[in-house]
Amino acid sequence: MKSTNRTVSKSKQIALVAHDHRKTDLLRWVEENKDALSHHQLFATGTTGTILSRETGLNITSLMSGPMGGDQQLGAMICEKKIDVLVFFWDPLSSVPHDPDVKALLRIAAVWNIPVAINRATARYLITSPMMSEEVQVDIPDYEAYLAERL
Ligand code: PGA
Repeated sequence: MKSTNRTVSKSKQIALVAHDHRKTDLLRWVEENKDALSHHQLFATGTTGTILSRETGLNITSLMSGPMGGDQQLGAMICEKKIDVLVFFWDPLSSVPHDPDVKALLRIAAVWNIPVAINRATARYLITSPMMSEEVQVDIPDYEAYLAERL
């Protein structure tokens, strides 16, 4: 597929999601990086967002809870270029009822070339990258060209 690019501004739109057994891990990471995160626009699935904003005081827009459609809402936002970074601490040791939605979210993040952190180690690298506070050009699929080829 042909690619084009888009400009991601200094202030990023960051999605935060953690499965139940990973929520403490994500909370710890958010607390450690509260200052850096406060310069960005934050979104989260329902329970994750409610816990994180209650515990840290950060301004976070909470969507639906993951099993009720929150992962799909985030996927749609990625397609609409309303999410620039995904921090998704999914649980590798337990099954969840919305596994298809989890896969769909990870898949669509791959399609749209969204940086994804799946654990504290990756999230640490991501948040300390200079790109987090700079305007960046990101390669994305050229949707117009894709459509034109199919018509
Ligand atoms: P939750 O959803 O934040 O509502 O727990 C997370 C998820 O399961 O994807």
